[in-house]
Amino acid sequence: MRFDVFTLFPEIFESPLQVSILKRAQEMGRLEVVLHNIRDYATDKHHVTDDTPYGGGGGMVMKPEPIFAAVESVLGEALGEVPVILLTPQGRLFTQDVARELARHERIALICGRYEGVDERVRQHLATDEISIGDYVLTGGELPALVIIDAVTRLLPGVLGDPGALIEDSHTWGLLEYPHYTRPAVFRGWAVPEVLRSGHHAEIARWRRQQALRRTWERRPDLLAKAALSEEDRAFLQTLGWNAGDELVNEWENE
Ligand code: SAM
Repeated sequence: MRFDVFTLFPEIFESPLQVSILKRAQEMGRLEVVLHNIRDYATDKHHVTDDTPYGGGGGMVMKPEPIFAAVESVLGEALGEVPVILLTPQGRLFTQDVARELARHERIALICGRYEGVDERVRQHLATDEISIGDYVLTGGELPALVIIDAVTRLLPGVLGDPGALIEDSHTWGLLEYPHYTRPAVFRGWAVPEVLRSGHHAEIARWRRQQALRRTWERRPDLLAKAALSEEDRAFLQTLGWNAGDELVNEWENE
């Protein structure tokens, strides 16, 4: 999978792409990240990429010409086929479902804004999608781009050493994941739950499922409305006080 990233600060991407799974995915040929400095596409003498906003007000706005020039020259004939995603706090929220959707593409372009954002005509006439990584405002789109690259890359076939990890991950089935423990069995007097040391696989699977359900109910009851729940799951949740439909009322929220 190839990401073309359009940014004023390509250096931000260097270290995250040089370690761990993202590094390995590139070595395996599963991931290619090509960084394009928008400044290189500004044609004036000083390579200006921003200007003051029409209508006044503080801050600067990223000019449309260098962004259009960069994306059009890099994508060439692929323009119109490759999703061009504008990172913006006003976009649709990035979730695991969106990560799965993006992982189906062979190539994606990401436009990183800075300052007050990009000229509106980029959104209207160049971007094909707008994504926000959460309801907060960052200084630039580079971290959101890295978040997307990271979340999508670990979904690509063969990238994770243990593909089973993907199946259990939080949000994969609409639930938060169960808690994890490793050695020592007792740390400062806090013991690992007995069932995990029992070697009884069916009991462990049952315990983990119930922990995932409990956790989701306690922390993110809103997720239960869309989760794939079996009859056994429903019966267990009811012992916790859950009734289908009233996910939004629970102890966590009342704290
Ligand atoms: N003035 C803009 C607004 O209120 O919508 C925010 C601009 S922000 C300071 C600068 C850039 O950071 C944005 O153009 C966008 O690329 C990026 N950015 C900030 N927060 C983001 C978020 N939650 N998700 C995605 N991109 C974000």
